[in-house]
Amino acid sequence: MSRILTASKLFSQSLHNHGENRCYFCGTDCDNTYLSELYIKDTFTNRDIIARPSSKYVCRGCVMTLGFGEDDELVMIDGSIKKRENQRGLSPHLYSWIITKDKRIPFTKAHISIIRGILTNTNPIMQLTTPFVIVLSDSGQKHLIFRAPVSKSDEVYPIMLEDEIIITEPISIKERIDITTPIVAATGKPALKDITLQTYISYRKYHGNTYKLEEWESIKNDPISKLAVWLSLNKEEATNEYPVH
Ligand SMILES: [Zn+2]
Repeated sequence: MSRILTASKLFSQSLHNHGENRCYFCGTDCDNTYLSELYIKDTFTNRDIIARPSSKYVCRGCVMTLGFGEDDELVMIDGSIKKRENQRGLSPHLYSWIITKDKRIPFTKAHISIIRGILTNTNPIMQLTTPFVIVLSDSGQKHLIFRAPVSKSDEVYPIMLEDEIIITEPISIKERIDITTPIVAATGKPALKDITLQTYISYRKYHGNTYKLEEWESIKNDPISKLAVWLSLNKEEATNEYPVH
């Protein structure tokens, strides 16, 4: 039978429960060890996001990612270790992830500069080789891994940002982040999403004109712009690139 590679299957690595059934959540092949009725919660009333609504079974990776997590500690992308302090604290849905064939690497918004380097190919501490999955959690409230796409290319690839799947490439991400930097320098990161009259006043005071802010306002709702907001520099980093005159 065909083998469907899903993000959950990648996540489970060698633990995957190969079998002749399909996973209710992600659709990969699985055996009959885990019954879907034990894992379906009220949050899954939206059947559009379920791969196999008629299946009675769940794959090991979905069991791992939909629960509280199975490790007592997580090694974050910067090498720091987060220990389990309570039952929920290491739940996979609280984190963002890069998942590859042999690694699953958690990170948070505290690690944005590292992730920015990887996704823009400007500081490649790790080379993305297919298959891989990138999931960026914005709210920490939603289960994203089971429905995240697996990349088949390391040049143009999908990034899951909260509910949205953005197909892009490193140079496009970099160009879009570059547009946000002078705005963050002048007004801070929140203004990227919420541009007010005050934003224009602050921006003009800082840069002497408002051309780049106008450009951003016309494209800020593009999917890739949302990605650029998530990955943008913080105020201190942006100010270093655009010092006050
Ligand atoms: Zn699954």
